[in-house]
Amino acid sequence: MPIRKDDTPPNRRFGIVNLVLIGFGVLLLVSSFLPNQGMQQVPRVPYSLFVSQVDDGNVRRAYITQEQIRYELKEAPAEGAPSVLATTPIFDMDLPKRLEEHGVEFAAAPPQKPSFITTALSWIVPPLIFILVLQFFARRSMGGAQGALSFTKSKAKVYVPDEESRVTFADVAGVDEAKQELTEIVDFLKTPERYTAIGARIPKGVLLVGPPGTGKTLLSKAVAGEAGVPFFIISGSEFVELFVGAGAARVRDLFEEAKKKAPCIIFIDELDAIGKSRAGSMGVVGGNDEREQTLNQLLTEMDGFAAKDKPVIVLAATNQPETLDAALLRPGRFDRQVLVDRPDLSGRKTILDIYARKVKLAPGVDLDKIAQATSGFAGADLANLVNEGALLAARSKRTSVEQGDLNEAIERVVAGLEKKSRVLQPDEKKVVAYHEVGHAIVGHLMPGGSKVAKISIVPRGMAALGYTLQLPTEERFLNSKEDLEGQIATLLGGRSAEEIVFGAVTTGAANDLQRATDIAEQMVGTYGMSDVLGPLAYDKQGGSRFLGGGNNPRRVVSDATAQAIDKEVRTLVDRAHDRALSILNHNRELLESISQQILEKEVIEGDDLKDLLASSVMPEEAVAIA
Ligand code: ADP
Ligand code: MG
Ligand code: ZN
Repeated sequence: MPIRKDDTPPNRRFGIVNLVLIGFGVLLLVSSFLPNQGMQQVPRVPYSLFVSQVDDGNVRRAYITQEQIRYELKEAPAEGAPSVLATTPIFDMDLPKRLEEHGVEFAAAPPQKPSFITTALSWIVPPLIFILVLQFFARRSMGGAQGALSFTKSKAKVYVPDEESRVTFADVAGVDEAKQELTEIVDFLKTPERYTAIGARIPKGVLLVGPPGTGKTLLSKAVAGEAGVPFFIISGSEFVELFVGAGAARVRDLFEEAKKKAPCIIFIDELDAIGKSRAGSMGVVGGNDEREQTLNQLLTEMDGFAAKDKPVIVLAATNQPETLDAALLRPGRFDRQVLVDRPDLSGRKTILDIYARKVKLAPGVDLDKIAQATSGFAGADLANLVNEGALLAARSKRTSVEQGDLNEAIERVVAGLEKKSRVLQPDEKKVVAYHEVGHAIVGHLMPGGSKVAKISIVPRGMAALGYTLQLPTEERFLNSKEDLEGQIATLLGGRSAEEIVFGAVTTGAANDLQRATDIAEQMVGTYGMSDVLGPLAYDKQGGSRFLGGGNNPRRVVSDATAQAIDKEVRTLVDRAHDRALSILNHNRELLESISQQILEKEVIEGDDLKDLLASSVMPEEAVAIA
């Protein structure tokens, strides 16, 4: 086969050649039709030569236009030389006189009038271009995308789950309480009549609160998937724009759309972007007007709609509930708050199960072990972990994911998380365990209307590494002196346990001490519970909360009284501390055994906890301290 250098297919080459030829043809044609004022090639001569030829009487006639003067000689200077010449005119007022003197026949071209077509074009084309440009923008903005005129349109996307990508509650694990709450919402949407018939008010707003990656967005999609209603999804940041007022207009637009499609769900992700507390953002320079307007519009819209059988439910998610404006949390708005927290051990196991189903696991992989090693992981971290494991397996050309891959994946994910300080080292975890059990045992033995309901060492939020939950057993409006003393002792139980077991204290108790001291100060200063200082209120109530921070200013007292108050507060806290120490020393074995259990399970609650705490005993000496 012959080697062809030119690889262009022949017919395409033909096409190109043709095009070029046609182009040329058109050019030629056009140029031949162009108005030409006898533009055949005429030799040009200097003006001075023309003048001297006129003076010599050798010019028969001249034709004068603005561009040139063409003239004909009476006789050519030589045989065969052209007798028609041209020259470029210069501004010469004497020319007509000179031509006349020498008997030259001359004429000038009429002034060029713009043709009708030129006139028409100059009137029609500019407006036409203008209209076209306008139409271009208008069409883009109607397309809904990011057109220049579309900034007042809400950018909410209607999320329509197809059968394959439909998310249901089965895809979300480890957040059972949240699921339960939202199941009710789904029920509302499916059969609103059942609720309205009794006269129950359907909630308007549900706020999902929890750390990043715990499945808030996923849960809300699951609600949409389960309820089978239209689902508008938009991120809070998409409301906030450069143009003041655009956000508010978008909110209006969004709710208008939603009302047309009711019953439906509006999901506002990252609500904090618009819902930041107005008081809290005072320091920021400028730029808040827009957010405030958007927020106000949102509040107005939420107050506005109340169609009974056509509910529009607003779901929102945030990981900074503490920054939200209080107005958002009022009844009739986001009055339901659902905590979506990091999963505990069994929750992590179920999440791992979900994601392990999507990869090929080698036989004998123990997901329980993985779940145990991933305390503090959120759902997204676990999904990420399984995927990392699969990547590692694929990299070493194995066909299934082995335990080793997953273990290595944990390390990788942890390395990422440690930067965000969300994972406890094993020795830290031990300290947290004893600390929390210390709270629980002391709390259980103290008088007052509350019982210890749950101990957890799953890190929560940014500050709390673990927590002990005390629930009131009866509704109480008054606390006795003994109750408050018990609360202080319970708060000090965590630190006391650390002292007893490790002989050292950590920074983990800072918040406990703060609260314990606050209670002691109030006992002395506000409630007059001190025998030494008597029933006087040393605190001034009702000082400005905004200027002074939290604490009430003290009434004007003598130095001696001030010292006495300080001493009394100190005594209260010290006594509670002694009490906690004595209780924990006395129940040392129980402290040990519960701590070991919680290190394994991470969470102990309900009857298990009740049974464990039932064997604690109140030492005689602790009663005496009180
Ligand atoms: P959030 O909105 O709370 O920040 P997302 O819902 O966006 O978190 O979660 C990100 C991803 O992590 C989800 O798409 C899902 O794959 C996974 N994920 C998070 N939490 C869970 C959970 N509880 N159960 C199953 N998967 C989860
Ligand atoms: Mg999210
Ligand atoms: Zn504590």
